[in-house]
Amino acid sequence: MTAKLIKGTEVRDEILVELKDEVDKIKNEHGVVPGLVTILVGENPASISYVTSKIKTAQSLGFKEVQDNQPDDISEQDLLGLVDKYNKDDSIHGILVQLPLPKHIDDKKILNAIDPDKDVDGFHPVNVGRLMIGGDEAKFLPCTPAGIQELIVRSGVETEGAEVVVVGRSNIVGKPIANIMLQKGPGANSTVTIAHTRTKDLAFHCKRADILIVAAGVPDLVKPEWIKPGACVIDVGVNRVGEKISEKTGKKIAILKGDVDFEKAKEIAGYITPVPGGVGPMTITMLMKNTLKSLKFHLGIE
Ligand code: NAP
Repeated sequence: MTAKLIKGTEVRDEILVELKDEVDKIKNEHGVVPGLVTILVGENPASISYVTSKIKTAQSLGFKEVQDNQPDDISEQDLLGLVDKYNKDDSIHGILVQLPLPKHIDDKKILNAIDPDKDVDGFHPVNVGRLMIGGDEAKFLPCTPAGIQELIVRSGVETEGAEVVVVGRSNIVGKPIANIMLQKGPGANSTVTIAHTRTKDLAFHCKRADILIVAAGVPDLVKPEWIKPGACVIDVGVNRVGEKISEKTGKKIAILKGDVDFEKAKEIAGYITPVPGGVGPMTITMLMKNTLKSLKFHLGIE
């Protein structure tokens, strides 16, 4: 069997077209566009690259995009003041503080200061609680897990009653995706198991999975013989295993590998995501979806 490849780049493009249509419609009917502020502290090259991608995507959708760059010696108090300013700004519907922050600033304090109704990353304790309660309460789903659900649903994989096994229990991927698939409703209604480093027999659990979601950060952790024939395999892992020269640019680039032995697994699975090009492209897309959703809440149309 050769698995159907779930291409995150294609799903991303499909969703971005839908979002752009919706932004244009709301602009025509209500005269407003979603507003997203990205707060970047310091000059960490990886953070600059992430923020640049977010800004470009927001601009391509016609959002109001505010790029607020701050020096890395900004005080915690001043950063809290900045968050407060955007909390009160009615033209801003999403606030994103790029992590990591400098050591003298308490990440938690800053993220918890964001108005939960503008927390488009979905990491504020209030939004974590809302997701746990589920149903209409769940406002902003964290972006990577929300993107994983989109990939599964848009591929036509049945989630109702499916055995979902999640490898990894982090707060940014493992726990929220487990919670999302557990929800009562379409695109979920699954029976969920969460595995981690203390799980006794990881292979046993993986073999039971109709949908196997792996977010461990360990290259080739999941062996091909652990995969149930026909299963949907979502590989969230992004592991740098070396460097190569890019054919396009001639520059050094990282060689990336997922948590699943892709070449062998694709002969057994029914559906599989590649690394790169699977889950990766979905995160920023879902951030845009959350920002639009926030505007719709603000307008009372969601
Ligand atoms: P994390 O915080 O390091 O958590 C990893 C989880 O995997 C932990 O719960 C850990 O268990 C579990 N784990 C590690 N080794 C294991 C093993 N041998 N057997 C079973 N469980 C094991 O990582 P994360 O932030 O969730 O990220 C996971 C991976 O996804 C990373 O490669 C990351 O780069 C990638 N990622 C990709 C995206 C994207 O594509 N957009 C977004 C986020 C993350 P314990 O809790 O017991 O330690």
